Amino acid sequence: MAYKAINPYNGELIKEFPSATKQDVEHALATADQYYHAAKTQSYDERAHQLQKLATEFRQNIDQYAKPLTTNMGKLFSEAQGEVEKNAAFAEYYVKHGAEALQNISYNDVPDKTAYVEFNSIGAIMTVEPWNFPYTQVMRVFAPNFIIGNPVILKHASIVPECAMAFANAVEKAGIPAGAFTNLFVDHDQVEQIIADHRIQGVALTGSAGAGNQVAAQAGKYLKKSTMELGGTDVFIVLDDADLEAAIKGAVTARLKNAGQVCTAAKRFIVQSNHYADFIAGLSTAFAQQKLGDPLAAETTLAPLSSKKAQQKLQKQVQDAIAGGAKLLWGDPTPIEGPGAQFSPLIFAGIQPGNPLFDQEFFGPVAQVYQANDDAEVIKLANNSNFGLGGAIYSADLERAKRLASQIETGQIALNQPLNSYPDFPFGGVKQSGYGRELSDFGIREFVNAKLILY
Ligand code: NAP
Repeated sequence: MAYKAINPYNGELIKEFPSATKQDVEHALATADQYYHAAKTQSYDERAHQLQKLATEFRQNIDQYAKPLTTNMGKLFSEAQGEVEKNAAFAEYYVKHGAEALQNISYNDVPDKTAYVEFNSIGAIMTVEPWNFPYTQVMRVFAPNFIIGNPVILKHASIVPECAMAFANAVEKAGIPAGAFTNLFVDHDQVEQIIADHRIQGVALTGSAGAGNQVAAQAGKYLKKSTMELGGTDVFIVLDDADLEAAIKGAVTARLKNAGQVCTAAKRFIVQSNHYADFIAGLSTAFAQQKLGDPLAAETTLAPLSSKKAQQKLQKQVQDAIAGGAKLLWGDPTPIEGPGAQFSPLIFAGIQPGNPLFDQEFFGPVAQVYQANDDAEVIKLANNSNFGLGGAIYSADLERAKRLASQIETGQIALNQPLNSYPDFPFGGVKQSGYGRELSDFGIREFVNAKLILY
């Protein structure tokens, strides 16, 4: 049984779940295909109504849905409550705007011809999702595809099975027909078998670049359209004219939210020289105030990592970084013993090209700080990465910040605020951070047949 819910705060096994059988997989594919054909004669309005019921189910039972987030992957309970609400908001965005984003596009200025493009459903989508936001990552794929009429089959991360079950139960309680969404506890080989199946027409993965590499190759092999939402080493830039207090406050959120386990978390802090020492002092003070503990307890401010494995991986990265010449500016890198996955925050400088950890994603509360003398150096440092997911720039001069933002090779940049995801705006990356966009009108047009009708 590979799917296990283990509380990362104390290492206790909560529940194991049996893996999906060959028959389960075939049943999921067959019901998804039936749903795909049945949904073709259904209106967007009907599905929007059902999707609203799903959003309401989450909104009316926030604590009930928040609990497995905290017990399966360790998120602070307040953050878990926030995720349940955001999950509902993602669904509600497509309730309100889904049909509008799928309206026909007319071409009226071509001599002798009239044409329009309509957006048709394409079939079932296989989605592979990570544990860090167990509901919202799934909703980002499910909600737009449900409005289109594409059924979704989910393979969730094996450490959050209760979250996967809770999502599936909510879908059922909302009265969404069988086949529109199916959760399967499948292994990596079964994922490839599902992708290969003729009833699957798209693949949406969120996860590490390593997983993306393998699953994107499978999607390519079987000629299935795919989107890849992968990792990042996002920059957080503090320019010489920035409001330092606001920048430090933003930096703490951007690095420590979700115990630092966010794809768009700030991982590389690039600070112009006049602010460098004060920024490090401010960040250290804020890190020192963090209280590790039970994520269900209100006084805890820094949750454990998602699993013992995640803790051990980050500990090894930290040791390798130090061995490779990284300078520890603040914190105690001694591993925290015990059954839980606690990790104390750390601040490093000097992780340069040549260090084995250069350009690796530290998925936890580990900050790397770089000093830059001018804007050209900021851009050079920012773009010296194989990843290209997001970033943030703090400056009193909005036009200067926008000019710099245009030169940074990422899919998104926030100005004078930590980067976050919103249903109304596209989310995604470039380079090794993947391709395609989720959320907004961009997200709903990833898995459609943009069909030309010409007369
Ligand atoms: P992961 O180890 O890559 O796993 C992600 C998902 O992929 C899990 O469901 C995993 O299943 C599955 N998987 C891994 N290898 C696979 C393979 N060869 N075939 C089929 N499925 C496979 O990532 P994670 O540790 O769960 O999540 C953290 C990563 O996700 C970070 O890199 C983070 O930056 C990234 N992320 C990106 C975004 C974004 O929108 N760009 C958002 C959130 C997170 P198992 O659990 O069974 O191994």
